[in-house]
Amino acid sequence: MSPMMNAVEMTPPSPSFATVTTRAYTVLVRNIPAIEAQVVENTKRAKKLGLPGYTFTKVGEARQELRTFLVNKGERETLERIMWVQDIEIQGPARIQFDGWTFVGIIEHGREGNLVKGLEGADMSAYTFAKGSCDHCQHNRARAKTLIASNGDKTVQLGTACVKHYLRGSQNFNIAAMAEFVLNAEFPAIKDEYDGEFEGGSGSDYFTVRDAMAAGIMFMLREGYKSKSENPAQDTKERVMFYLRPGKSPEARARRDALVREGFSITDAHWAMADEIEAYFGGLTDAEVTWDSFLNNVRTIVRTGDVSARNISILVGAVWGRIKAQYVPADKPVSQHVGAVKERRTFTVKLERVFEFDGLYGVTRFYLFRDVEGNVIKWKTGTDLKIEVGTELSFVGTISAHVDYKGVAQTEVQRCKVVQPS
Ligand SMILES: [Zn+2]
Repeated sequence: MSPMMNAVEMTPPSPSFATVTTRAYTVLVRNIPAIEAQVVENTKRAKKLGLPGYTFTKVGEARQELRTFLVNKGERETLERIMWVQDIEIQGPARIQFDGWTFVGIIEHGREGNLVKGLEGADMSAYTFAKGSCDHCQHNRARAKTLIASNGDKTVQLGTACVKHYLRGSQNFNIAAMAEFVLNAEFPAIKDEYDGEFEGGSGSDYFTVRDAMAAGIMFMLREGYKSKSENPAQDTKERVMFYLRPGKSPEARARRDALVREGFSITDAHWAMADEIEAYFGGLTDAEVTWDSFLNNVRTIVRTGDVSARNISILVGAVWGRIKAQYVPADKPVSQHVGAVKERRTFTVKLERVFEFDGLYGVTRFYLFRDVEGNVIKWKTGTDLKIEVGTELSFVGTISAHVDYKGVAQTEVQRCKVVQPS
C-alpha cells in the first residue's frame, strides 16, 4: 500500500451532513437502564465522528399500565400484567452522511427470507434474496444483518464489521453501529418498529401473525387504514397493538372496554379472512416478491409466524392492501413477453412501480407497468410522467428488448408517446 493511501486511510471520516431530531417513546421502566446505556454509547460514537451527542429525557412520572397479552396458538388465552412505564424523549443526530456515503438500507437475513428495509426512494429490489455477502471482503458467510450504503454512483452491501474498512475511516470509529442506530431511528417505516424495540426484547413483545391480522382486519373494515402521520398514536398499528395489549390502567382499561362496546371485537369472519390473507402472503412465489421488498418482507414475516412490535406496521399495511385489492384474483397471471423486438405498438397498462435514479445527466426513471394480461412493461426515461401508481394509460412505444429480471419476463420499451390520457 502506498504512503499516499496510508495518509488517506488515516483521515477520520468527515460527516458532511447531519440533522438533529427529537423522538418520543413510551417504554417499560425496567428497560430504561438499557436505553440509557444505548444513548451513552451512541453519544460516544457521535462525538468521535464530530457530531452532537444524544440526550435522554424522562417526560412526567413513571406510571402503571395494565398490559394484556393475547396468547394464540390454538386456544385463545389472555394474560394480564401490571407494568411500570415511562414516557421519554431522545434527541440526537439523524440521517448522517459519512465521507460521501449514506447508509440507505438494512437487510436482515433470516431463516424464512430477508427483511429488506430501505430509506424512502431507495431501490432495494436487488437485495430481496441477497445472501449476507459483503462487497468489501467478498466473503459470503451467514451474516444476520448487512448494511447498504450509496455514494450516489454506487451502492454497496457491507458486513457490519467491514464498514469501517470500506469507508476508510479510523478503525476506532464504530461507524456500522452508529449507522444502524441512526437508520433505525430515522426510517419512517423502521421508526415505528423501533418504538417496539425500546419496549424490550422479551417474547411478550411478539404477536402472532394471525392475531395481528385479525385485529387489523377488524379495525380496517370499519374505519379504513389510518396512517401514523395523519393519526399519531391512533394509527391502525397502534390500535391493533392497543387492542391486543391495552395499557394505561385504569383509563386504558376504560378505553378498551369502550371499543368493545362500540362493536370492535374479532369475529369468526375476521379470523377466516386472516387465515386467507395469511395463506395468500405465505404462498407468494419468489418471482412475485422479487420486485417488491415490501411484499418480500410481508412474506418473510408471515412465514415466520410471529411478528414483533417492530414489524407490525408492515403486516398491517399489507393486510390493508389485500382488503383493498379483494377484487384481484389470488392467482395473478404470470408475465410474458409482448410482441417482437423493434415492433412499434400501442400498450394499455396500469402503473405499478416507479424507480428513480440520480445520474450524471439528471434523473432517470424506470416505469413498471402491467397490461391487462398481467405482462410487465418497462419504460426507462428521463421524462417525469407525473403519474401515480395505479394510473391507467395508453402509450405508443417501440419494443427494445425482451428480458428476464429474476424470473419475471419484462418487455422493455423506448420512444414512447402517451396517447391516453393526453
Ligand atoms: Zn466484508
